[in-house]
Amino acid sequence: YRAKTSRSGHHVYSAADDTRGAERLRDLEELRIALTCGHLTLHYQPKLDVASGLIDGVEVLIRWDHGNRGMLKPGEFLPLLEEAGLMPRMTDWVLEQALDQARSWQSGGRSLTVAVNISAASLADDTLPDRVAAMIAARRLPPAALTLEITEDFLVADPARARLILLRLRQTGIRISIDDFGTGYSSLAYLRDLPLDELKLDQSFVASLGADPRATTLVQTTVTLAHGLGLRMVAEGVENREAFEELQRLGCDEVQGYLIARPMPAADLTGWLAARSGAGNTDPGPGSRPPA
Ligand code: C2E
Ligand code: MG
Ligand code: MG
Ligand code: MG
Repeated sequence: YRAKTSRSGHHVYSAADDTRGAERLRDLEELRIALTCGHLTLHYQPKLDVASGLIDGVEVLIRWDHGNRGMLKPGEFLPLLEEAGLMPRMTDWVLEQALDQARSWQSGGRSLTVAVNISAASLADDTLPDRVAAMIAARRLPPAALTLEITEDFLVADPARARLILLRLRQTGIRISIDDFGTGYSSLAYLRDLPLDELKLDQSFVASLGADPRATTLVQTTVTLAHGLGLRMVAEGVENREAFEELQRLGCDEVQGYLIARPMPAADLTGWLAARSGAGNTDPGPGSRPPA
């Protein structure tokens, strides 16, 4: 086939479009199958409480176990999934799985909070607070065992509505964290008006700690801001000991990153935690797993 051009000069058709379209359809079909046939899976990354040196929670990160293409990261399939309108189903699936896992850790005598990422579109669904509350109640979990990580794009689209939904979530006792803090349309107004529990500083600030003195100032200021508002300050993307020590010195409450551990399947995490506490280890790292 050859690309055709309309009379107005606009590109209307090409074989390449056809191929891309077909690929997209195949990807979509595969995603639908993945969602229904258990090819989506969750990895868990430990979060370290700086004061105690203990692992007190995990972040839940979705993966697509794709066979040929290996273990795919969310950046490779979430946009397509979102576009296909499959996000609500995925969100519910992730929440159910994560809460089942939290329940099973709790039954095993280990209390770990789980932090689940929720897309703006899923948050905008005002049936979410009741659904999440029911999921938690069904497992007899303390609501504070669940943190929802939300990004600033949800807050700016419709602040009044966002506030109502967050209030309802918060009333059920669920914790709310602002993810990738500092990279979105950060506004002091929402920090004043919204019911929040935690600021999670974006990893780009952590990455430049040590190399750029301005990064230190930004982290320090964010810690002051968080603590002044009664919020917990979390840093993600902590890859080396220098960054960890700087964050500790600056008063950061919780850290997460490859220095401590990479995201891993629940079965591996159980062993990792046992080995760590068995050794009486409260040291942040080095991470126990080689780069994925
Ligand atoms: P995020 O919530 O900001 O998650 C942190 C990302 O940083 C994760 O990437 C994690 O694997 C990675 N990471 C952790 N420690 C380090 C480190 O020390 N260094 C570096 N360079 N990276 C580190 P991942 O798993 O690829 O997830 C990317 C994003 O996808 C997440 O960013 C989150 O926004 C989204 N996501 C993941 N799972 C879900 C989900 O279940 N639902 C929704 N809606 N979004 C999800
Ligand atoms: Mg997150
Ligand atoms: Mg983040
Ligand atoms: Mg991110």
